[in-house]
Amino acid sequence: MIKMIVFDMDGTICDLYGVSNWLPKLRASDVSPYRDASPMWDMEKLADILHKLQKQGIKIVVVTWLGLGASPEYKKATSAVKRDWLKQYDFPMDEFHAVQYGATKADSVRKKLNPGEEAILIDDSKKVRNGWRLGPTVNPTVQNILDILAGLVQ
Ligand SMILES: [Mg+2]
Repeated sequence: MIKMIVFDMDGTICDLYGVSNWLPKLRASDVSPYRDASPMWDMEKLADILHKLQKQGIKIVVVTWLGLGASPEYKKATSAVKRDWLKQYDFPMDEFHAVQYGATKADSVRKKLNPGEEAILIDDSKKVRNGWRLGPTVNPTVQNILDILAGLVQ
């Protein structure tokens, strides 16, 4: 039974890679690309679906990687900007985890699942999806996440 939906952010719901010069900016410890990234989905529709899923007892969790080689200050600033980005779209969320670049995302949520309960991962990284053992995965670069999530609404 699906009890949790785990969202990546960059390249999954926020178009970080569509921000001009995003990589040099991140390397210069500039958080603006995270703030300026456009949403990749109709966030009102997404929030509406997620609220319904929450009412069914499904937890909505964000697990996002912090920048590679980022300083502690930059990590802290990144985490705050990413939370604000979600907040501006009223993204319904039970948990938010900003973790080290490359961290195993399942480690953030595994303990919250009881035996037989599954978590769906929505993540644009093939490597991350391939390493997911907690349930199904969704590739937001080829699959319509709104349709898939709406399909879970009872
Ligand atoms: Mg990503």
